[in-house]
Formats: sequence, C-alpha cells, structure tokens
Amino acid sequence: MKNRVLVTGGAGFIGSHLCERLLNEGNEVICMDNYFTGSKENVVHLMDNPFFELIRHDVTHPYFVEVDQIYNLACPASPVHYQYNSIKTIKTSVMGAINMLGLAKRIKARILQASTSEVYGDPLVHPQTEDYWGNVNPIGIRSCYDEGKRCAESLFVNYHQQNNVDIRIIRIFNTYGPRMNPNDGRVVSNFIVQALKGEDITIFGDGKQTRSFQFVDDLVEGMIRMMNNDDFTGPVNVGNPNEFTMLELAQNVIDLTNSKSKLVYLPLPADDPLQRQPDITLAKEKLNNWQPQVQLKEGLKHTIAYFDELLKKGYE
Ligand code: NAD
Ligand code: UDP
Repeated sequence: MKNRVLVTGGAGFIGSHLCERLLNEGNEVICMDNYFTGSKENVVHLMDNPFFELIRHDVTHPYFVEVDQIYNLACPASPVHYQYNSIKTIKTSVMGAINMLGLAKRIKARILQASTSEVYGDPLVHPQTEDYWGNVNPIGIRSCYDEGKRCAESLFVNYHQQNNVDIRIIRIFNTYGPRMNPNDGRVVSNFIVQALKGEDITIFGDGKQTRSFQFVDDLVEGMIRMMNNDDFTGPVNVGNPNEFTMLELAQNVIDLTNSKSKLVYLPLPADDPLQRQPDITLAKEKLNNWQPQVQLKEGLKHTIAYFDELLKKGYE
C-alpha cells in the first residue's frame, strides 16, 4: 500500500477520476462528498474495491481521519451551481479550507488545494502567469466562487507560513470530460447535450469570448505530479493553453456529432471573462515536463461518447 489519501469532493466530475487513478496506483482512498453536485453514480464502479471508502460528509463541518495526503476538491464548480446558494459556496471554500488545513496540521498530512483560473477573474494579462494578481469583481455574481477560492489560497499560504503545513496549490483551467454533470450549465456539457438532442446550441454573448479546455486525464496527471513534488508548494497553473472561442467550440461539437442543431444567441452573463489561457511554463519546469497530451477534438470524442451513452440510458 502506498498512501492513504482523502479526496474531498471525490464523487464529483474531477474527484471521481482522481479517486480512480489513485486506486489504480495502489493507494487507499477515502472519498468524502455531500453529493451537492456529485453523485454515487460517479464512483459506483469503485465500490467493489476494498481500498475505497465513500463517506457522506459536508466539508464545512470538521472531519477527522488519519491519512497521508488530502486533495481538497469539495466545491461546486459551474456558475449555475455555485450561484444557486452563493453563501454556501463561500462557506464551502473558506470553512472547508480551514477544516481540511486544521486536519492536515494535526495529522501532518500533505494537502493540495484545487484552486482555479477564476482567481484571475476577467484577466487583463494574457496569457495568465501565476504572478498575475487578477481582476476580480468582489461584489459580482461570480465573487462567491472567485473570492472564496482566493481566500482559500490565502488560508493555505498562511497555514504554511504560520504552522508549517505542507501545502500544494494548483490553479485549474476549464476542464471537461466524461462524468461532467449534464445539468450544470457548463459550456462543454451544454453544447454536447444540445447537439446530441438536436436542440439549439446556446451561445452567450457574441461567442467570441475564449476559454482553453483541458481534458480531465491531463489534469489528474498534473495534480498527482504536484502532490508528489517534494519541494514546490505552488501556486501553479494546470491547463491546456490551446485557446478557442465559444463559436469554435460549438462548430467542433456540431462536426463531431453530425448534429443539425442551430446556434442561438443569448445574453452574456455579468462578469463573464472575455478571455482565458494558461501560461504553463512553470508547470513544465516544476512538474517533470508536464504538459497536456489530449487535444480538443480527441477529448471531445470521449466526452461525446459518454453523454451519448447517458442519453441512451434515458437520462433527461
Ligand atoms: P463538481 O461539481 O463535479 O465536483 C465538486 C464536488 O464537491 C461534488 O461532488 C460536490 O458534491 C462536492 N461538494 C460540494 N460542496 C461540498 C461540501 N460542502 N462538502 C462536501 N462536498 C461538497 O466539479 P468539478 O469540476 O469536479 O470540480 C472539482 C474541483 O475542481 C472544485 O473545487 C472546483 O472548484 C475545481 N475546479 C474545477 C474546474 C473545472 O473546469 N472543472 C476548474 C477550476 C477548478
Ligand atoms: N457559455 C455559452 N453557452 C452555454 C454555457 C456557457 O456560451 O450554454 C459560455 C459562457 O458565457 C462562458 C463560456 O461559455 O463565456 C464558459 O462557460 P463555463 O460556464 O463553462 O465556464 P466559466 O465561465 O466558469 O469559465
């Protein structure tokens, strides 16, 4: 047995892939989740493994367990879900970080925070490097998530400096793949489900805003390399620098699904960032030449196959 690992938010999209990978590498995994946006379905295939434990728990309450490593992922990630109960989102980020850092301090575990490119807000520096402080509206509709994650980063750094807690921080850029929640309103899942159903594809604004999309397997590789790096606390960007407009993404999805869906234009939500692209120079340097292996078309094919299967099973 290598390590005993706690993954908060482990029944979510990214968490479920991380749990799977950690188990495959011979670790013991404790997956903690309150099932707000995740589900048992995401990890049901792991349940037969005696080294996997699933715990229903809310990270805003203290939790005690003896582990070697903690990956702190608990937090809704899509704007629709994190804005649903914005106060709870802030509590999850901030109180969740305090609880998990307190645990890490007590049991001397290494702890990795799943931070986000959203700490850069609507960035005025492009592409974004880790030394950029960001452009976040502290009272806007995205602030519960952005500021919650910024405060969590601050807590991590302060627990490290004041209490010597062994921290790691990664800033994750838009990630997609199988087991995304089809109802969470994120652009990749929305476009694929709409295309497969032959429904209109909803472009917010003029569709010229950009994002850089990372396939989930590349992220998990980066996360594990960061956790197991002995002398670098971060923060480090983990994302795919290939940048696309939402119109380009829609066209890719239409082509790959042979869909007859038409584009419709809806208002752009407030504070929606205009552009986003990670500078991954630091990740390459510190994470043993880590860089994304799966490009958009290939990653979309895997994701489309997943949603196709889900819809065939009668998922609405
Ligand atoms: P997700 O919504 O699928 O996963 C989040 C998980 O956390 C879910 O299983 C949810 O039920 C759980 N959760 C939420 N609140 C909780 C609470 N109070 N207590 C316990 N569990 C709770 O989203 P995801 O895309 O898998 O994101 C995972 C992490 O990665 C999040 O912290 C997110 O902020 C971060 N991240 C994701 C992306 C992305 O593009 N997917 C980008 C940047 C950062
Ligand atoms: N978006 C869109 N249509 C949708 C959902 C999202 O055009 O049906 C746009 C959204 O306005 C944003 C981009 O896609 O500019 C990415 O949105 P998402 O919610 O996936 O991620 P985030 O904005 O948090 O990066």
